[in-house]
Amino acid sequence: MTPGIRPLIAGNWKMNGTARGAASLAEGVRAGLDRVAGADLLICPPFVHLHAAAAAVAWKPVAIGAQDCSALPDGAHTGDVSAAMLADAGCGYVIVGHSERRADHGEADAVVRAKAAAAIAAGLIPVVCVGETEAQRDAGEAESVVGSQLRGSLPEGFGAARGVVAYEPVWAIGTGRTPTEADIAAMHARMREEVTALLGEAGRTTRLLYGGSVKPSNAATILALPNVDGALVGGASLKAEDFLSIAAAAPAG
Ligand code: PEP
Repeated sequence: MTPGIRPLIAGNWKMNGTARGAASLAEGVRAGLDRVAGADLLICPPFVHLHAAAAAVAWKPVAIGAQDCSALPDGAHTGDVSAAMLADAGCGYVIVGHSERRADHGEADAVVRAKAAAAIAAGLIPVVCVGETEAQRDAGEAESVVGSQLRGSLPEGFGAARGVVAYEPVWAIGTGRTPTEADIAAMHARMREEVTALLGEAGRTTRLLYGGSVKPSNAATILALPNVDGALVGGASLKAEDFLSIAAAAPAG
């Protein structure tokens, strides 16, 4: 946690489920909201389930986000979805630069930066993901890789748009493995320095999320670490009970 920053607990539902399942999961999160006094909640369903999830939370204090957007505003780009379309569909946030998009679609920092800029232009808050591979960590390059991803991926206006950064070590995603507490704290301290150098004062209050195998059993420990201002949760966000337990473990910022 960072004093003065209210934690954000974000669920990345990835490519899972049906519209009915999305509505029911969102409804489950909404129904348990009174357990979560100290954190903001965000759920990120697949594009085609955004409306169902948004209707189910009834625009209560659960924000809706998408998992990607186009860098382009509109036009002949088959299969893409613009940031303005997401805003029109009720999204307040969009994840960009998730390692699965970087790996599956070859998205480099420049693309991530352009997508984050498009999100800001459409009035969305981008959640920009960064993180090293296992080989990079083993080579002692984790902090320099993440520093370089931040410099390459954060667009102009990011601080003013209240953009969010998520540190997600690639080797910790969906594996059940997490970095040590000391490693998470060290990386988040380094990220705080980097975003403050890039964004000025706004960097001091930019939310820095940790993501990678967060679950109810490790959430309290991770969320209490300095400069960890919330979590991006994959697998455990697919069960309302687990997602709510993680959010309930967040110390009020
Ligand atoms: C993710 O993919 O954003 C993620 C953090 O996944 P998991 O929690 O399943 O590791």
